[in-house]
Amino acid sequence: MTPDNSELWFLPLGGCGEIGMNLNLFGHDGHWLMVDCGVTFEQGERGNRVQMPDPDFIAQHCDKLVGLLATHAHQDHIGAIHLLWQHFKCPIYATQFTAHVVQTKLRREGCAAPVIVVDQNAVQQLGPFSVHWLPITHSTAETSALLIDTPAGSILHTADWKVDHAPVVGKAFDDEAWRSLGSRSIDAIVCDSTNATQAGHSVSEADLMPGLAQAIANAPARVVVACFASNIARLQTIGDLARSSGRHLAVLGRSLNDMIASAKACGYLQENFNVVHAHDIGYLPPHEVLIIATGSQGESAAALNRLAQGIHPELELEPYDRVIFSSKTIPGNELAIEQLVSALRSRTVEVIDHSNTQLPIHASGHPCVEELAQMYRWVDSSLAIPVHGEPQHLRANAEVAKQCGIAQRLVGENGDLFRIRPTPSIYRNAVRTGRLELLSNGRLQPV
Ligand SMILES: [Zn+2]
Ligand SMILES: [Zn+2]
Repeated sequence: MTPDNSELWFLPLGGCGEIGMNLNLFGHDGHWLMVDCGVTFEQGERGNRVQMPDPDFIAQHCDKLVGLLATHAHQDHIGAIHLLWQHFKCPIYATQFTAHVVQTKLRREGCAAPVIVVDQNAVQQLGPFSVHWLPITHSTAETSALLIDTPAGSILHTADWKVDHAPVVGKAFDDEAWRSLGSRSIDAIVCDSTNATQAGHSVSEADLMPGLAQAIANAPARVVVACFASNIARLQTIGDLARSSGRHLAVLGRSLNDMIASAKACGYLQENFNVVHAHDIGYLPPHEVLIIATGSQGESAAALNRLAQGIHPELELEPYDRVIFSSKTIPGNELAIEQLVSALRSRTVEVIDHSNTQLPIHASGHPCVEELAQMYRWVDSSLAIPVHGEPQHLRANAEVAKQCGIAQRLVGENGDLFRIRPTPSIYRNAVRTGRLELLSNGRLQPV
């Protein structure tokens, strides 16, 4: 199965019909381009099970794979690179921050994959694909949409995105740049569907400052903020709040320390982000301590769960300490989070989360209906292909596209071949797909 020079194909092996483990392929003139290679976490009896797309199809065509583009530093987009790279062995391209995060992981895992840093506005030729990297706002730094041009046609792959005019870290969403994309026609837009069932507009990162400030301000003792490690803007906001509230900033969790190191190496977190050593937290007056911790999803080995169980080596939480969940519940993690919250409450630790406060303490990184509509009106595309969502999210996204006048929508799932050029159509179950699971001995096993 190989596209000829009149054809332009899109073939998702992961992330289409589900949220997580994204792996997208674009095909033209005998060549393939991979966009993202991520994992998903399945809650099991013995904690999180790490799963990823079965790369069998592209492994068999790896001599025609011109590169892997990593759009941003989230695990559902880059988390499988070190585990799967040996199956396809192509160069990896990413902007500076994403590249740093990927390289840190590759080095630790002893994987020799080459990572090439590209500018945030780079245009590069990879085989028959001309790729224009387009900065877009999301919940981690330096996220890129990709405008992929070939002689047969063009595709805008949005990656994960939102419209954020005040993202705290990195460049603001540039309305003018996106509007100007509409001056040319594009054959297909492949678009994030995560929040397509949510009306309205996502909350800006900058709007969290007052909510988090209020949640911290009246805390009588320690405050622990649980958030996603890769959200550099959120880390900066919490750092700024530590400074303004006169608290020492501390950080618990390896993934946080890795992300902070990558962020600082790329010029982020330069002000108000001097952390005290974890050993020292327990000796400081509680009302002078603000801690950022990993584990907002109830992960058993993460810092927050260890604090909740009273087994963290650096700190024991005490009554009147406060934990703020600056995060959302990822579907599937409800039970683990519930158990985490009750363990915290049983230690008389106060918990603030979306269920008991009206304060804005978390912002999603994905577009709601208004933002999707805006994108569809800006971009001149005759075809929309919703991805990055469960079937109901994909259908909702397609409906928004329809309302905005996008002539054709193709809704499918992993393994379906979306023929974009010469004639848009979908060939269902064109390729066998599946999942691999990471076993404790480091091997991968089909699920
Ligand atoms: Zn994602
Ligand atoms: Zn993302």
